Amino acid sequence: MALNLEERLVTSRPGSLAWYQRAQRSIAGAIGHDARYVTPFTTYIERAEGAYKWDVDGNRYLDYQVGNGALLLGHAHPAVVEAVVKAAPLGLHFGNDHPLQVQWAEQIQQLVPCAELVRFTNSGTESNMLACRLARAYTGRGKILRFEGHFHGWHDDLVRGFLPPFQASPSIGVAPGALDATVMVPANDLSSVERALANDKDLAAVILEPSGASWCTVPLVPGFLQGLRDLTIRFGVLLIFDEVITGFRWAPGGAQQRFGVVPDLSTHAKIVAGGMPGAAVCGKAEIMDLLRITGDSQHDRYQRVLHYGTFNANPISAAAGLVTLKIAQSGEPQRQADAMAERLRSGLDQILARRGVAGYAYGESSTFHIYLEKPSGRKVKDREALRSIDANILKGMPGELVRALQNGFRARGVELMSYNGGMTSAAHTEAMVDETVVIFDDLVAAMVATGLVATLS
Ligand code: PLP
Repeated sequence: MALNLEERLVTSRPGSLAWYQRAQRSIAGAIGHDARYVTPFTTYIERAEGAYKWDVDGNRYLDYQVGNGALLLGHAHPAVVEAVVKAAPLGLHFGNDHPLQVQWAEQIQQLVPCAELVRFTNSGTESNMLACRLARAYTGRGKILRFEGHFHGWHDDLVRGFLPPFQASPSIGVAPGALDATVMVPANDLSSVERALANDKDLAAVILEPSGASWCTVPLVPGFLQGLRDLTIRFGVLLIFDEVITGFRWAPGGAQQRFGVVPDLSTHAKIVAGGMPGAAVCGKAEIMDLLRITGDSQHDRYQRVLHYGTFNANPISAAAGLVTLKIAQSGEPQRQADAMAERLRSGLDQILARRGVAGYAYGESSTFHIYLEKPSGRKVKDREALRSIDANILKGMPGELVRALQNGFRARGVELMSYNGGMTSAAHTEAMVDETVVIFDDLVAAMVATGLVATLS
């Protein structure tokens, strides 16, 4: 009897399964990141190079997860590895300032339009915490306006709002009062933003992913970013771009460069540290100067923003980040990654069209998303009718379809991000993309045959 997909995964990946079972006894929740959760077990990876990674059972994957988006240049890029190997014997962590951190900050200043000054942190979550604190300190107000579906890390300040139902906290254990410190509105609706800013005089800043929620799963309408810039200036609140994904990917200077809208602050992680842990907040000098210790005891004790962090700007991350950003400066890696994603989106979309599936592929820059309807959902005659904002994450693509896509690709040697899409890197080639499209054709055929996905009525 033919094995089903999950049974096939179990049989062909005994090593991953054994590690996953062992992790149940030592790692809380058995996984290292909520988004790594996938049933029946997670994949245990042994090594990675370029656009590929290999699991502990020797299976090769064409990788569209690219280190959670951190690897614009692909895995183990020789220049980045060389920089790390050169830096490591000199000391893994000094607990002091060091020349590489200044060069790293200067490189970021050159690329990121709003980066009059830079401060290093360790993750996107930390960067967004610091940006919120800076915004509250600068304006003397307490709340942040955010958008439904946009993700800004797992900290209490901005935790509510990225998972539907958006008003409910996605976690228990959030500090009392934290949920009331954000105001949430739907994206793409400037009049809601205007109303919120007019009604609530305690708003310090507006924060968003300038790609639209979850790296453009819900794209922004043209003009929205400029509209936000105009409104925030009019109401005297700060505009923060969370460029944790878009930074150095959407363009060498991130989304702010690509769209020509310069925020007051932007937060960066992932690519900024070249695949090592590391992150940054960039911003206008007047705001960033709140971090300065002046020697005036009154000022230093009561009028500045406090920020610690043992591993801030550690030398290994600085080395990897610096060389990565130098390579990214030319725009060539972004052009290659964008072109591969465009080719992939178009190839995937053609498969869905040819097989008459109620779904479509879309995305921006070097990302792609696959949207599919489940058979018991609404009847759709026309794929174009589906291409509306309400058809995607705000409604939520059913979990069983995301899982079927992920596991279907996984069994065929392709890894997606932990959702219904992925990202390309400069290491992805046309041949790899074309191979992915052929694999997708086979996967879609299987999904149609098993009645998992809706076809056009
Ligand atoms: N902001 C965005 C847009 C992200 O995609 C992420 C992580 O994926 C974060 C913030 C949080 O970053 P980190 O995982 O480094 O804490």
